[in-house]
Amino acid sequence: MLTRPASARKTRTLPQALSANVENMKSSLAGLVLVVFVNLATGADRPATPEEARQFIQDAEQKLLVLNIDAATADWIKSTYITDDTEGLAAKLDERSIAATVAYVKQATRFDGLVLDAATARKLKLLKLSLTIATPSDPKESEELTRIVSSMEGTYGKGKWCPSGPESCQDIEELTKVFAESRDPRQLLAAWTGWHAVARPMRNDFVRYVELANKGARQLGFQDNGAMWRSKYDMDAEAFSRELDRLWEQVRPLYLSLHAYARSRLREKYGDAVPAAGPIPAHLLGNIWAQEWDNVYPLLAPANADPGYDLTALLRKRNTDWKAMVKYGENFFVSLGFDPLPQTFWERSLFLKPRDRDVVCHASAWDIDFLSDVRLKMCIQITGEDFLTIHHELGHNFYQRAYSKQPPSFRDSANDGFHEAVGDTIALSITPDYLVKLGLLDRAPDESKDIGLLLHRALDKIAFLPFALVIDQWRWKVFSGEIPPERYNEAWWQLRLKYQGIAPPAGRTETDFDPGAKYHVAANVPYMRYFLADILQFQFHRALSQAAGCKGPLNRCSVFGNKEAGARLNAMLEMGQSRPWQEALARIAGTREMDATAIRDYFAPLQKWLDQQNRGKPMGW
Ligand SMILES: [Zn+2]
Repeated sequence: MLTRPASARKTRTLPQALSANVENMKSSLAGLVLVVFVNLATGADRPATPEEARQFIQDAEQKLLVLNIDAATADWIKSTYITDDTEGLAAKLDERSIAATVAYVKQATRFDGLVLDAATARKLKLLKLSLTIATPSDPKESEELTRIVSSMEGTYGKGKWCPSGPESCQDIEELTKVFAESRDPRQLLAAWTGWHAVARPMRNDFVRYVELANKGARQLGFQDNGAMWRSKYDMDAEAFSRELDRLWEQVRPLYLSLHAYARSRLREKYGDAVPAAGPIPAHLLGNIWAQEWDNVYPLLAPANADPGYDLTALLRKRNTDWKAMVKYGENFFVSLGFDPLPQTFWERSLFLKPRDRDVVCHASAWDIDFLSDVRLKMCIQITGEDFLTIHHELGHNFYQRAYSKQPPSFRDSANDGFHEAVGDTIALSITPDYLVKLGLLDRAPDESKDIGLLLHRALDKIAFLPFALVIDQWRWKVFSGEIPPERYNEAWWQLRLKYQGIAPPAGRTETDFDPGAKYHVAANVPYMRYFLADILQFQFHRALSQAAGCKGPLNRCSVFGNKEAGARLNAMLEMGQSRPWQEALARIAGTREMDATAIRDYFAPLQKWLDQQNRGKPMGW
């Protein structure tokens, strides 16, 4: 079945150097990068000139490029050959490039307030906005904040639930599996409560982290740390917040239908533990955070709507090997008009799990030299899921290559939602008809069989949207002071109730700190990119399908083989982040506004089906 490709991207363009390690993965661990920013007045004796600013940033991007290539190379070696030595070297080169970036940020304050040409101004702005946290100028406070963030991440990373002594301990990987597979409500409740207790000790640290991070952000001229995060989106911070609410309102009716349907089916399974009309308890949705619900698809699957084929079985029947799997992905892009991948891609990538050493198997797409040395790192298995993941990862690689002609500062996606969205856009084109074109499937099932595929995808992507929104809605309100420390947990559950219609399965008090049970909160990693990626990919898919002249239902459109769609896509990709994202969006979608109605279009057949299923049943909570 289709699941969200487990994938990451590894790029290290200049401004993003500071957050490159943590920009991936909604659910898994990633290394913490904390930026120590000392807001010193570094102005020279005489006023700086625009020409000096231009020289400065050009020099900075070239020097940082060299450092970042070294860091990326060491990181690659570490990830494909894990030893104490390779880890040590990678960490050292990472620190070196971060320290250099921080030094440049400090120096760049010299040019604040100057009237500059557009490119220079944007490069300086991107450099400054690359910080995910700014420590205060006071060295003691700076040291304290650094220590707190790494301590919270450490608490999370070491977190275990031990129901009956040390032998019984389970970490988050094991608990994730329990949630995916167990249908025993008592076991799930115990595991849920056990894992959430891990975050309690973070609570006081988090209060102090908020104070200090805000102080650092204010010294940079931002209202608070949340406002600093929101400023990365080429919009006024408040306008960006409103924009997200607008997008959510567009999707909400579909979410309500999905929620009502899931609730009624789960009630059939679990009885009164699931209320007929209230919120769904958070431990019964197949995921410890209730962030994606596709693991409970088997409990919710429609009768008579199975697609009738199994991609894994089809691939195996044809003796597909890893190379053929990757070639399918490459051919998709070539069919759109992109050049084939370079020879070095095939020579330097890691495609299979080695038998003699440890590697990081988590799929990721790399851009080692920011020019053409793109690579895939993946332990490919011949499954339908990996088939999708390959298409997704190559989306990153083709994006990386498309923007490689930009100056170093602009070699990244238009905003952080775009990179993930591109890979997923391509994965949306893996339709039954596409599989027929590849010769993998003899005949596409008729449209009545789409419901199973659509429901599975909705449990993944639509269920995820309100969750993604809540994580940073909560943090933004915490940073702004709207949610005071004494209401942290209460406010967390109010937001989860409001957006997700989810309730805690056990009593909560303010001794709990449930937000900290999610990695990105404990480790200071912004989350909104994942919401944006899920919105944008459908908008991209609709725009490309229209360019390709697809007249059928949107979920049946595949842009495979269409040069017109390829040209549209490339027009956006090659811009990198040289211009505000609204201009990149306009290139592909013909509008500067994000639009979640593409989601409603894509899932229209499912909406109709859900309406039938929900007839006479309560909606909402
Ligand atoms: Zn990805």
